[in-house]
Amino acid sequence: MIPDSDNPREACGVFGVFAPGEDVARLTFYGLYALQHRGQESAGIASSNGLGDFILRTGMGLVSQVFDEEDLAFLRGHIAIGHTRYSTAGGSLACNAQPIVVRDPETGEEIALAHNGNLTNYEVLRDDLIAQGVEIRSNADSEVMAHLLALAPGKTWEERFHYMMRRVEGAYSLVVMTRDKLFAVRDPMGVRPLCVGRLNGHGYVFASESCALEHLGLEMEREIRPGEVVQIDASGARSFFPAPEARKGAACTFEFTYFARPDSKFMGELIYPVREELGAALAREHAVDADLVIGVPDSAIPAAIGYARESGIPYREGLVKNRYVGRTFIQPDQRIREAGVSLKFNALGDVLRGKRVVLVDDSIVRGTTTPHVISLIRKAGATEVHMRVTTPPIAWPCFFGVDMATRAELIAANKSVEEIRKHIGADSLGYLSVEGLNRATRQSENNLCNACFTGSYPINVQMQMDRLEVKRREPALAGAESLNRAGGP
Ligand code: SF4
Repeated sequence: MIPDSDNPREACGVFGVFAPGEDVARLTFYGLYALQHRGQESAGIASSNGLGDFILRTGMGLVSQVFDEEDLAFLRGHIAIGHTRYSTAGGSLACNAQPIVVRDPETGEEIALAHNGNLTNYEVLRDDLIAQGVEIRSNADSEVMAHLLALAPGKTWEERFHYMMRRVEGAYSLVVMTRDKLFAVRDPMGVRPLCVGRLNGHGYVFASESCALEHLGLEMEREIRPGEVVQIDASGARSFFPAPEARKGAACTFEFTYFARPDSKFMGELIYPVREELGAALAREHAVDADLVIGVPDSAIPAAIGYARESGIPYREGLVKNRYVGRTFIQPDQRIREAGVSLKFNALGDVLRGKRVVLVDDSIVRGTTTPHVISLIRKAGATEVHMRVTTPPIAWPCFFGVDMATRAELIAANKSVEEIRKHIGADSLGYLSVEGLNRATRQSENNLCNACFTGSYPINVQMQMDRLEVKRREPALAGAESLNRAGGP
């Protein structure tokens, strides 16, 4: 098959808008369009006009493929939430597309929910709900959260969120819609981003990343705080903190290094200069004599520029990416198969010929793509290739919404740095240290998750570890269902 990226995959992007008198469906469409990098397999929008049932449109594919003008005209109302999703292989099903809509069994009113993240106690909660007679229609952990809210005792929404957030464990940035209210929710560890902006003084917009607000001409007002619920309705905005405070913050460092767009802000920092600093830190930690620095497009380019600036080695564009390559199920012929990674990247021979090259990338996960990229650079005439990576070696799986790999698949869990260097065919290999990574993000270590590098998870994930281990020993099953849930099965 056409080689796929070896990068970790983000699970989802969420978007919500409360704006009487505005075309909320169109705003949500463009918001999701800006969040497309967070998930490309399905998209959905639900809207409410405050009177009856929701209108819902979901479908498989890119945001631009799922919705047309007719859909947007149909999605009437003054509140809307939207979702764009990446799922692992077993979960790429229409029934798992979000927003998820469930009904309050007492009042019959609908609740719609869109989720970015992953619950670590999903199975327990799911079994519990089934034992209570709840019909679960998808295999997404997000549905469990929607049912918990629908079933929650209490008269106020504050009480309902209190009930839900005390039960769920893991990562969740949510937008939730009821007939006349919109909520934005972030888990107490603050793993995934979520922010809010104002629309024309009377509306509110929530988005996974601030870049989605800026595309709509809005400024980010602030980020939703870990553990916070923001409620918007006709009477205005209010905020409450219904969950117990987390032991520590756990903002995902991969948002800084790879997931978030460079024009987004996370934890108060614009991503672009953080990535430049990651490259600069890498140059200090792993200096080398070379003629030029190149980055693997697109995400590693700011870091390559930072490396070049700090080291004094010139930066050039040595790899060009075909930005329109996606997943395909069309079998390539022999010639294309041999061409390998060159379907995605092309190397610029005029730039690379006869040069000692520093190649900067943001991660090596399984180690399947990097050898092809390095061989491409050598074929283009580079005399040396020095690999530099802006994250530490990834040796542990993620249980918080990122499709990384199992421990058995992670190259750094099974090989030393020197063995990895040989495997990828580089002249030298240098990974940024955890300390260097933390410093570049300008966050205290206590606010960050680095579990996929250190194995030190912010909450107990033993159950998930055991489950992964069992699946690994059952290859037949593992083939049928992905090992990483990553926001979906
Ligand atoms: S384990 Fe890694 S990818 Fe997952 S949340 Fe933590 S830092 Fe991010």
